[in-house]
Amino acid sequence: MFRYLEVRSKAQSEFIDITPLVREQLQGSGITSGVCHLFVLHTTAGITINEGADPAVQRDMLTFLDRMVPRDPYFAHKEGNSDAHIKSTLTGTSQTVFFNEGKLMLGTWQAIYLCEFDGPRQRRIALNIVSC
Ligand code: ZN
Repeated sequence: MFRYLEVRSKAQSEFIDITPLVREQLQGSGITSGVCHLFVLHTTAGITINEGADPAVQRDMLTFLDRMVPRDPYFAHKEGNSDAHIKSTLTGTSQTVFFNEGKLMLGTWQAIYLCEFDGPRQRRIALNIVSC
């Protein structure tokens, strides 16, 4: 079953916790056990699973990515957002999460994040929810 998440980012770079939105989609699907594939339909955003308790972790990751890939004026890409394209590739554009008895099988501290690297923008994430 295919579904979509629509997420509006508010900053140029930010991690947005989409775990509640994914849970909502799973509950609406009527499927209680299976696999949920998530795929970001963009080239300057990513998706990752990481710490959901302390927001400082997300800030540290964004700071580290900014230092690793600065917005270099010497990139060839004329749109001027090559740093965002590179960060998208570094974080990846897909994740797979198991769910059982209607609950996401995430670790205690884990959350699913849309990684915005060239916002603010409207973002779309495709979900494929498979029963198994
Ligand atoms: Zn571009």
